Amino acid sequence: MYPKKDADSPRINVLLSYSLLSSIFNISPHTGLERLKAILLESGHYCEIYDPNVDKDPDAILKRVKAGEFQIVGFSVAHSGVPNLDWQHKLMKASKNSDKRCIFVGGGEQATFNDEFWLEFGIDLLFIGFAEKMLVEFCHRLSLDPNGEICSLVEGINGVSYMNESGEKISKLRDPLTRDEFQYLSYDLILKSDTDYHKYWNHNRQRISDLRVSEKMRNSFVIEYTQLYTNSHCAWDCGFCSTSQYLRKTQADNLQVLMISAEQLYELVEVYASKYGTKLFSFCEDDFVIGNRVGKQRVMDFCEMVIEGKKDGRLDPDVGFYCQNRIDNFLERKKTSERAKIKERVVNYELLSKMGEAGWRCMSFGVETLSDKLLNCKSINKRVTSKECRAVLDAAIKLVPAPQLNLILGIPESTPEDLVYDMNAGVEYLQKGYAVQTALILGAYPGSPIYYDEKNYPRTYKKYKTPFGKTLEISDDIPPFDPLVRHACMTAKETIDSEIEKLRKFTPWKKGYFPRMMFTIINFMVVARELGRSDLEQRYMEVFQELVPKKSGSDPYRI
Ligand code: SF4
Repeated sequence: MYPKKDADSPRINVLLSYSLLSSIFNISPHTGLERLKAILLESGHYCEIYDPNVDKDPDAILKRVKAGEFQIVGFSVAHSGVPNLDWQHKLMKASKNSDKRCIFVGGGEQATFNDEFWLEFGIDLLFIGFAEKMLVEFCHRLSLDPNGEICSLVEGINGVSYMNESGEKISKLRDPLTRDEFQYLSYDLILKSDTDYHKYWNHNRQRISDLRVSEKMRNSFVIEYTQLYTNSHCAWDCGFCSTSQYLRKTQADNLQVLMISAEQLYELVEVYASKYGTKLFSFCEDDFVIGNRVGKQRVMDFCEMVIEGKKDGRLDPDVGFYCQNRIDNFLERKKTSERAKIKERVVNYELLSKMGEAGWRCMSFGVETLSDKLLNCKSINKRVTSKECRAVLDAAIKLVPAPQLNLILGIPESTPEDLVYDMNAGVEYLQKGYAVQTALILGAYPGSPIYYDEKNYPRTYKKYKTPFGKTLEISDDIPPFDPLVRHACMTAKETIDSEIEKLRKFTPWKKGYFPRMMFTIINFMVVARELGRSDLEQRYMEVFQELVPKKSGSDPYRI
């Protein structure tokens, strides 16, 4: 797919690094970096990945960078990582002080949407959109001209961002990602890539064995899991979301959703299950099903193949799946009675139950709110009704063992009544068996539609001091408009960690891991208190106590 380097030109040594994560419990290989590594090796260069979350001895890798072992060092930049960029600092310092020339590069969603920030941070060159093609071409050119200036090395390469000699930012959109290119990157390369899953699984196994959880709970964690990306992007445009805009903004042409076929998807699953022993496949794209006819048919066909594969012994019957969804993926238009004049959107039970039958253990729904008003306000823009959300959620809990629901409490347009309504809905779904996850405030993500409407969606900024002493600002939150909602959600955001520390001693999870449902109910308690609703705070406290497992026998953890 991409040209190989000239046989007689030297190879380029590339080090790619993952960011240091503070609280991720189950760490897995970074698919994007693994794919870059595979393509660099295939095109004749060398690539190594250092993951500071799992790999030991960071000083040793920094020493190797400093000694000039790598000509390129790169990492994937993330908005949520700012301002905790210590690891990136160290890597950058080592590469800039390297005994030989070492170029510091970055990629990922925020390299596209916030390139100015990352160039100011000190990155020499950013790759925009799917970076494989441009990185390979850049390595070929660097190999032929090791001392070339960046602006001459990238001449004619689209999909890069850098500062020219006069300090002016130059950004060029990427060439459109083609169907063949997407399939090559997401199927061919993934099929033959060689990832050290066992390093990650052993790490996670160790972390889980350190947890103070029951044997039953420990056994319910699936260690052997693999992340796959099987389509290019979500075609929706929720107001607060940047990820769906990523590919669309990286290239000049309008982009259709690209996907690998059901057959390719099944082949990846069968190969990974037998080659690595994967037990849980997590489809990590924002919208696995893709709500159109082709997307739904792809999932139905894939499920049929899985069911057949499990029946005839090609696939372990215990292999399971997880994906993220939009509610409307599970809605279809039907006449609800003979006399009905129009078709209504009703639950697509066939699709949900087929996924359940194939082995979906978990699916998460980014509902954000169950209020009709908020579902359709500009910052959310889900274009579904509360009734439709509830119908899908109530159907999913019967067909999938562990569904998840995501809510945002501090939606800018929310009133105190809306907030109470959503917290009560959250409790209702917690009690129905959903793992409810909440965000207290909407983030101001570069790239999201409302990010570009600062007049109507004012935001807060956080300051960040670069390693070169420059102070940069980066957007942080979009606070709710209503003063009481703003006060309640912002105060909860500031105090939630200390509230959790106070309350966790009454649970079996005294330190480290703390279940998501407990976070959620504590969020509700604090927000209710700050709203001045002691009645609700008391009610949520009772739910908290119901959720805390009993000590052996019937002796509860008392509060
Ligand atoms: S929030 Fe989910 S459904 Fe909405 S645009 Fe983003 S990825 Fe798509």
